[in-house]
Amino acid sequence: MSSPGILGLLFEEATGDYSFQDAMCPINFRISNFVKRLFLSLLAGTVLCSCSKGASAPKIKVMLLTGQSSKYHNWELSSALLEKRLSALDLFEVTKVVSPAKGEDFSGFDPEFASYDVVVLDYEGDSWPESARKRFEAFVGGGGGLVSVHATNNSFADWPAFNEMIGVGGWGGRGDDFGRKIHWFNGEVQLLNTPGSAMHPPKHDFEIVTRAPEHPVMKGLPVRWLHPNDEIYSRLRGPAKNVTILATAKADKRKVDKGTENHEPMLMDIRYGEGRVFHTTLGHCNTKDDERVPSLNCVGFITTLLRGTEWAATGKVTQAVPYDFPAIEAVSIRGQ
Ligand SMILES: [Zn+2]
Repeated sequence: MSSPGILGLLFEEATGDYSFQDAMCPINFRISNFVKRLFLSLLAGTVLCSCSKGASAPKIKVMLLTGQSSKYHNWELSSALLEKRLSALDLFEVTKVVSPAKGEDFSGFDPEFASYDVVVLDYEGDSWPESARKRFEAFVGGGGGLVSVHATNNSFADWPAFNEMIGVGGWGGRGDDFGRKIHWFNGEVQLLNTPGSAMHPPKHDFEIVTRAPEHPVMKGLPVRWLHPNDEIYSRLRGPAKNVTILATAKADKRKVDKGTENHEPMLMDIRYGEGRVFHTTLGHCNTKDDERVPSLNCVGFITTLLRGTEWAATGKVTQAVPYDFPAIEAVSIRGQ
């Protein structure tokens, strides 16, 4: 095994990277874009500033990329609520990037991913040009963070690298032969090749169960909590490589009669190259909803989104668990 050297050890210490794949990584030398910028910022402060103030840590630069959804969803509402929650935290500097509309010319679509620490993707729509795909692959593979929200995992079935980034997805051309299904069984991850493509039971309140309590995103959260009126994405399929299931849900038979009977992944950690991906399948809204939509205003959704975004960017979570985080007895929704 080769050594990362002193600089590498410094970076490792700075990231506090939490890796379930360490044994598979020959060097264990992950450097996020954020840590690179932080290090450069500290160097600049050392060289340029002889006063006592020094250099302050930069904010995490977040690109919220949105602009299309299917008829079943409402990207304008979901992205507005995501932007509201991300921007409310002083930790983040948020830039919203809106793609061309469905069917419009994408030839000039080439976001500057490399200028950001993390991309929050709320996008379900047309394919991107090859140049944008390649830059996105280089961004995440090179240590950039990615957050995939709800129907984003319906996108880009024909893009192998994207499917590796999100681990598993559904619909959009993902049939019974589209990789393996993933769920939680007898205390561990289980991958299945059996038939059955994506589905979800009707929206209802359901229990979310933490499966990786020591993960930075999940640390300090209740083992079980109630999430309001959302879809349990089920039988998602894909490459399912380097996936750690953080939380699961199973359809509540007392409330709905359609479900897989499996513990389906709701929150996931996926590693792609040097990059970290936080995948939340939660957060459904459609054109009948308004800004009070419970799924996106759930304190559990908000908390895991904000923590997942910080973790994807830096490998750490500095945010405390909010006082109004839901318990198992009742949902907790903001802005009602
Ligand atoms: Zn949905």
